[in-house]
Amino acid sequence: MDAPCAIVGAMTVAVRLPRRKKSRTPEVAELLAWYDRHARALPWRARRGERPDPYRVWLSEIMLQQTTVKAVAPYYARFLSRWPTIDALAAASLDDVLRAWAGLGYYARARNLHTCAKVVVELHDGQFPSDMAALRALPGIGDYTAAAVAAIAFNVPTVPVDGNVERVVSRLFAVEKEFPAAKPVIKQLAASLLPSDRAGDFAQALMDLGATICSPKRPACALCPWPDACLANARGNQEMFPRKAPKREGQLRCGAAFVVFRSDARVLLRRRPDKGLLASMMEVPGSEWTHDFDQSRAQRSAPRLRAKVQWQRLRGTVRHVFTHFPLELVVFAAQVPRATTAPKGARWVKIDELRDEALPNLMRKVLAHALDRR
Ligand code: SF4
Repeated sequence: MDAPCAIVGAMTVAVRLPRRKKSRTPEVAELLAWYDRHARALPWRARRGERPDPYRVWLSEIMLQQTTVKAVAPYYARFLSRWPTIDALAAASLDDVLRAWAGLGYYARARNLHTCAKVVVELHDGQFPSDMAALRALPGIGDYTAAAVAAIAFNVPTVPVDGNVERVVSRLFAVEKEFPAAKPVIKQLAASLLPSDRAGDFAQALMDLGATICSPKRPACALCPWPDACLANARGNQEMFPRKAPKREGQLRCGAAFVVFRSDARVLLRRRPDKGLLASMMEVPGSEWTHDFDQSRAQRSAPRLRAKVQWQRLRGTVRHVFTHFPLELVVFAAQVPRATTAPKGARWVKIDELRDEALPNLMRKVLAHALDRR
């Protein structure tokens, strides 16, 4: 690799990329040699000499979006043992997939995962395409996932750039431009490093470097294969990269949740609408989540039951932070007799079977709050 010369300042428009004459620069060769010695043993990663399985690569990449290897590992193992092939996953019911996904968050991904499996089976005969455009056309597959599957499963020469890779590359080249404007610049710089062979290993080496050595705080530069090539390391300001514009947290929304306990140890649940946040997941009945919350207005959203209901406002609130906004819910609880029927669109679920329901984390918090204070 030529000395990194693409210091992309806020005022700098043109990006001078390092020239790539050789198929593999000495630094990239060092990165690959480091990867050969220190690659993480991940459950979805092919061992040396094994052919990567595109189904496993895709499944792990979808699961890993917005979360950690540690959080994903048990979900991945469960999915794989239950649905070992894409045909098996395509034949599963959406409900079962959502249930198995519950707790991993970002539930649109689980729905897309299921739709994508069906499309691959129906349109591609159960084989993932290796072509980037065809991958990109599949449900739930964006630029990053298409590049990751293409590079890792099929060795297509492309670099998937996630948050870890952005951090490594922004430090290596000391990219001064702030996010999100820096994203395309970092992509170009990452692509400029791509060797002409071992594209899959190169992608995974960058991911591993970001995940294990080039950490957000106190990167272990002494263990990095690029201590000399890295501009941020030379300057000693590694933690200043990637440069980010100050974050604006979304405005707080508030709402009410209504937890109805039946005397035979059941609780009332309903399904959320098919579209929007937490689509198709289960929930306790509740009001809208608004910026101008009004408790007496929200109480009009309480479920209508054919029983005399005495609502009790539980002390405390439940807080949850979504990607775009924080949420605070007040919780009302009531107890009704065993003979009470569920209103249209809702059903009674045994309390000791709640863990099997496709309940998002927010609703698990609401139920725990109500059960604690009952
Ligand atoms: S030298 Fe340090 S900052 Fe630079 S890429 Fe390596 S770990 Fe990251």
